[in-house]
Amino acid sequence: MTYLDYAATAPVRPEITRRLVELCEQPLGNPSSLHRAGRRARMVIEHARQRCAELLGAKVEEIVFCSGATEADNLALLGYTSHADCQHHRLIVSTIEHAAVFETAKRQEQLGRQVEWVGVDDQGRVRLEELEERLTDGPPALVSVMGVNNEVGVRQPVLEIGRMCREHGALYHTDAVQDPTVLIDLIAENLVDLACLSGHKLGGLPGGILYVRQGIPLNPMVVGGSQEDGRRAGTSEVLRAESLALSLACPRPDVVECRNILEEVLGEIPGAVLLGKQAKRADHISSWLFAGLSAEPVLVALDMKGICASSGSACSSHSVEPSRVVKEMGYPDDQASGLVRFSFGWKSGKTKTREAAETIKSVVLHLMNKEKRCR
Ligand code: PLP
Repeated sequence: MTYLDYAATAPVRPEITRRLVELCEQPLGNPSSLHRAGRRARMVIEHARQRCAELLGAKVEEIVFCSGATEADNLALLGYTSHADCQHHRLIVSTIEHAAVFETAKRQEQLGRQVEWVGVDDQGRVRLEELEERLTDGPPALVSVMGVNNEVGVRQPVLEIGRMCREHGALYHTDAVQDPTVLIDLIAENLVDLACLSGHKLGGLPGGILYVRQGIPLNPMVVGGSQEDGRRAGTSEVLRAESLALSLACPRPDVVECRNILEEVLGEIPGAVLLGKQAKRADHISSWLFAGLSAEPVLVALDMKGICASSGSACSSHSVEPSRVVKEMGYPDDQASGLVRFSFGWKSGKTKTREAAETIKSVVLHLMNKEKRCR
């Protein structure tokens, strides 16, 4: 099998599995319990929080552990805007956000909140002039623009956006799931207020971190006990916290050569379009449209050859709906349903990637010829 779907979920790293198994071999109590097993669990969580804070350049109190980045994104937007001390009631959101942000903002809009949308150009880059215009006019806003788009891998100019937000008195939330270094850079420059990360994209278990800059008020969305400093109720998850700290500490894999090999081979397919080719892109994502083909038959044929790829967002991979992101980049519906995403990570290697790229090319050419004969 050649796994090319790291942007959806990375395989768990063996050193993380080993450490988590080791932790389970001794009794772990409820971290809120006073006895030794509870104290042990609490110590693991708080040590993990400390390591996450150090790795991100944040303060310990700024780290909230969640079930995943979806919950963290929801908590960022809803937890802040629902708080009595919220000063930024207007949302400005890019149209290419992951569903965790996009659907949250849409729901808020339906409930009557002022939500403004900022579009992208044909390369998937957020229109900064449009964002600045919106920031200049109107009440204080909470801006949400992601670091790296999960469907096409295009990087957004987060430092510039953070500066723009500071200049205009706006708050900045960023979804840094596809590249945690985005968040490290923003924290170092004090240009971000809320942000999220996801463990299963980094070789750990599912689990999320919400970064909340000190002083930003937040209502819990999961209500109950006072865990996570009153910002997220529910028994704290020891293994999740440890896994997040371990996965964040792993070196980011250098996969640019794998991506280049794939792009060199797939670039030989007539009519193939590499999405966001002229933009700055993350090294681990390569997304394509293959002339006349929708994604599903390509993915099924690749799976039969042992290659795991995806149609962009894993959350909508069971539907035949065209990609919202590709449509926002100006492609019509029939082309937007053709998005095929390949993504790389810690186990990717050059030899296997070259072999897979040749297989992908022959599968696509075969399907294209079949399609032509049927017309
Ligand atoms: N944000 C982005 C950019 C993502 O790629 C994903 C997962 O695909 C999420 C949020 C949701 O993360 P999780 O699976 O941890 O809820």
